[in-house]
Amino acid sequence: MPETPVLTRQVDLRLAVAFAQSLVAAVRSAAGSADALAILRSGVHAECPQCHLRLFGEDVLALAGSEAPQAEVSPKLHRLAQGFCGRQDCEALFYEFTFDPAPPVDWAAVLAQVDGAVTPEASEAGAAETALADQKAIAKKRTRLRVLAGLAVVLLLLLARHLMTGGTIPFLREPRRFTADPASLPHLGETGAPPPSPATNKARTFRAAP
Ligand SMILES: [Zn+2]
Repeated sequence: MPETPVLTRQVDLRLAVAFAQSLVAAVRSAAGSADALAILRSGVHAECPQCHLRLFGEDVLALAGSEAPQAEVSPKLHRLAQGFCGRQDCEALFYEFTFDPAPPVDWAAVLAQVDGAVTPEASEAGAAETALADQKAIAKKRTRLRVLAGLAVVLLLLLARHLMTGGTIPFLREPRRFTADPASLPHLGETGAPPPSPATNKARTFRAAP
């Protein structure tokens, strides 16, 4: 009996999520009663040709998940879901996938199915979805900032009202007066010529008056 050849595939990282989803779906249907996760674990490996970062079956399964992995949970999978190598700063554009024999799954049949399903158009739809999720996260952050800004305004208004009705700033028992330190002021008019412009932007120091 001839040895089953080890199959490989170069996968464009922009298609990584679509590829993982299609692969997991194809393995699940080909596995029948066998454990699809075990087949993915023993049969699927991928490696970055540049930095040699490796992916295993469970990474492929996580990439195929319905939600893109969050950066806090897995920076590697988050980067992969965005179409980049999982290693920070690696600029690889594709991964080399290897499929070791994993009966009862016939990788040639599974890959034929995956190749037909994974097209650049399919991945664009996925990218649009990711962009939408990012926009939602940004909107959430903006709302939080707006609430904080609103609270700050309310506090300032309360403080202004307190001062206008004769109160002092809480925790500052004694009002202090400040005078400018003459040494730190620009020497205007000494030479008659305007001072060199950098001097006007120099930080000035202030001393509390006795
Ligand atoms: Zn890499």
